[in-house]
Amino acid sequence: MKVLVINCGSSSLKYQLINPTTEEVFAIGLCDRIGIHGSKFEYEVPATDFELELEHDMPTHKEALELVLNTLTGEHGVIADINEVDAIGHRIVHGGEEFTTSVLVDEKVIAGIKANNELAPLHNPANLLGVTTCMELISGKPNVVVFDTAFHQTMPAKAFMYPLPYADYKELKVRKYGFHGTSHKFVAGLANDLLGNPEKSKIVICHLGNGASISAVKDGKSVDTSMGLTPLQGLMMGTRCGDIDPAAVLFIKAKRNLTDKEIDARMNKQSGILGVFEKSSDCRDLEIARAAGDERAELAIDMMTYRIRAYIASYAAAMGGVDMICFTGGIGENSNLIRSKSLEGLEFMGVELDQAANIERKKGSVKLSTETSKVAIYKIQTNEELVIARDTLAIVK
Ligand code: ADP
Repeated sequence: MKVLVINCGSSSLKYQLINPTTEEVFAIGLCDRIGIHGSKFEYEVPATDFELELEHDMPTHKEALELVLNTLTGEHGVIADINEVDAIGHRIVHGGEEFTTSVLVDEKVIAGIKANNELAPLHNPANLLGVTTCMELISGKPNVVVFDTAFHQTMPAKAFMYPLPYADYKELKVRKYGFHGTSHKFVAGLANDLLGNPEKSKIVICHLGNGASISAVKDGKSVDTSMGLTPLQGLMMGTRCGDIDPAAVLFIKAKRNLTDKEIDARMNKQSGILGVFEKSSDCRDLEIARAAGDERAELAIDMMTYRIRAYIASYAAAMGGVDMICFTGGIGENSNLIRSKSLEGLEFMGVELDQAANIERKKGSVKLSTETSKVAIYKIQTNEELVIARDTLAIVK
């Protein structure tokens, strides 16, 4: 079984050819700057360490996908014929309330995704472009769509409703949806395997990357998550502000005479780590600066980890306890500083971090709690592409 996993953005297309059963990755790569001068193509075959990186004109996603397919079947390819691809799995950011699981693509599903375009205007149309391009270039193969929001559709109304006029929910679909669902689902699955009792488990998952979200997963189901109608709500992120007083938005907009687009960019692209630290949005740069005594870097880390800690504690309270806290994503998997500062002060809940295990650089699923800790702590390497490939297999087989 070979599944082509496609993650299509407005100017990029990430791809992987995976066997969802053995988890073997045959090829992985990226088409970047599609439709922009200086388009770049990357291709890698993990089994042989073969790597290709070249500048190649890709005016549209069609040329990008053609290049991917030609490379997969070409001189350094991993398949002889495109018919060896059994199915294609696509990441779709917003499934609204309609899509609670992954589904096989048909005309009705395409219309359903389009109906949610308004909720994710930057992402959904680009994601859908990946689907329609694959339908055009790889004819006769099933396409499956996997939604970032689907895993969180199990949240109860008390968690997903905003206390706004009810008509805004009924008429405009304004509510909390949550994102990073494929990652939270993957980590929750592994965490439940480790706990051995998925029917009775309380897990807090911290997905900390450039974008960051926390979820509360009870008995295998998401019961709350920190991102909202859009990925702007919740934690302090690389360039996103996360939770703030909504009135601050109107105040800044008026005082600085900003357009809607400008205030949106201020909150999404100029805030978070970048906003406070001002020199970079990257957590590694932040840690290096902090070690060199940069006070703003210290402040940004304090703010970030304070918020993570407060979310962990509130989700433990929401679930009436917590069995395991998991860290994943680029920061969650790699930064021992962010992990340890996020857990500082949670000893009252029985959380005990094994400082020695925390600084070891092991990959995969690694236990970070002491033997006496009442709450297990793990770092778990996430794999969103594998979830997409597995869901695709489950639907087409
Ligand atoms: P995205 O949300 O774009 O998928 P990632 O999950 O790849 O992001 O995470 C990117 C973040 O992970 C960056 O802030 C980067 O600095 C951070 N990161 C990666 N490696 C380390 C490390 N060793 N120490 C601290 N932060 C790291």
